[in-house]
Amino acid sequence: MIELSGREVLAHLQPALTTTDIGVSKMADHKIDGNHGAGNVQIKCKHIVNISGGKDSAATALIAEERGVEFELWMADTGNENHVTVEHAHYLADFLGKPLNIARMDFSDKIAKKRKFVLEKWTQQGVSQSIIDDALAVLEPTGNPFIDLCIWKGRFPSRKAQFCTEWLKSNAMEVDCVGPALDVGPVCQWMGVRRDESLNRRNAPMFQRVRRADKTHNMLFFRPIIHWTAQNVFEYAKRRGLKPNPLYMQGFARVGCFPCINASKAELRQIGKVYPEAAARIAEWEHIVSSAAKRGKATFFAPDVTPQGADIGRRANAKGGLTAEESADQKWPDSNSVFEWAKTGRGGRMVDMVDMMMEDDGLSCTSQYGLCE
Ligand code: SF4
Repeated sequence: MIELSGREVLAHLQPALTTTDIGVSKMADHKIDGNHGAGNVQIKCKHIVNISGGKDSAATALIAEERGVEFELWMADTGNENHVTVEHAHYLADFLGKPLNIARMDFSDKIAKKRKFVLEKWTQQGVSQSIIDDALAVLEPTGNPFIDLCIWKGRFPSRKAQFCTEWLKSNAMEVDCVGPALDVGPVCQWMGVRRDESLNRRNAPMFQRVRRADKTHNMLFFRPIIHWTAQNVFEYAKRRGLKPNPLYMQGFARVGCFPCINASKAELRQIGKVYPEAAARIAEWEHIVSSAAKRGKATFFAPDVTPQGADIGRRANAKGGLTAEESADQKWPDSNSVFEWAKTGRGGRMVDMVDMMMEDDGLSCTSQYGLCE
């Protein structure tokens, strides 16, 4: 990747920039080398706002609209979304009077190749016939990107191998939207990213300039709410008359994959309580992906997420610890046991009754952002 010059960046963004953006950017991102001459250069740039159904991308789309920018609205459908989030994305599109474009990966070819590989190679590798038969029974595309990705890989993603983000979001957008757009001209992707969201976003730049060697044209990432707080985001959306995703009122701090492989204990407890069907779906997916796995076992969450799983992990990794066969025979926590553990208090032994009773009686405001009125 080769970076664009600051002059090119600013030229691409005209007329979407405000003087505040430029001022903030100069303080925060010293690579931007000023706006001299930007007003004289007009490069026709395609603006894309990538939404997730959450508050930050919604605010970003509202800003683009407020600034009079011609843009396309896109959402990457991972296949693991809550229907409330998908409905909210459509509500936002209607609010903006724009069509909602959906990017979705198709893994049919990959699954067909894996099927061939299993038929030809697994027998040679000494994999048992029953495991081969189980794999062949599920190696068919379902049309749901998340489960099809995992069937193809024979496993779920993990924190160390987070291939879900790459395939279901980045690659989906690349294939359906950004790649074709870059064949025609420069592209600016507007992103609803804030620095106070997480530690690994604390240095995210407002502008990020990308020139891709394999394409004629250049790309730019623009993060207009980089310095906003969550409260700023909600207040801005309220002022513009946009309702928040109802999940925030139900106690969810973030929306997106439902659940995410990295969901916190509190999130899992809330999902199990309010949307038990989502927990049941994950159990069903574990059954399918286990059949596609060479070892006949796959868990959605990291095996060491519960204290019991962490204990098995320690024994497996200790010097002279468990063999691969012994490890495979252990009772690694499946999603049912993870959702059960999520109901417990600190230490994971006792169900946190006080907390659950308070929530059931409606004694506490469930919104993590104080949105319940
Ligand atoms: S939200 Fe979580 S599960 Fe979904 S793509 Fe991102 S990391 Fe993967």
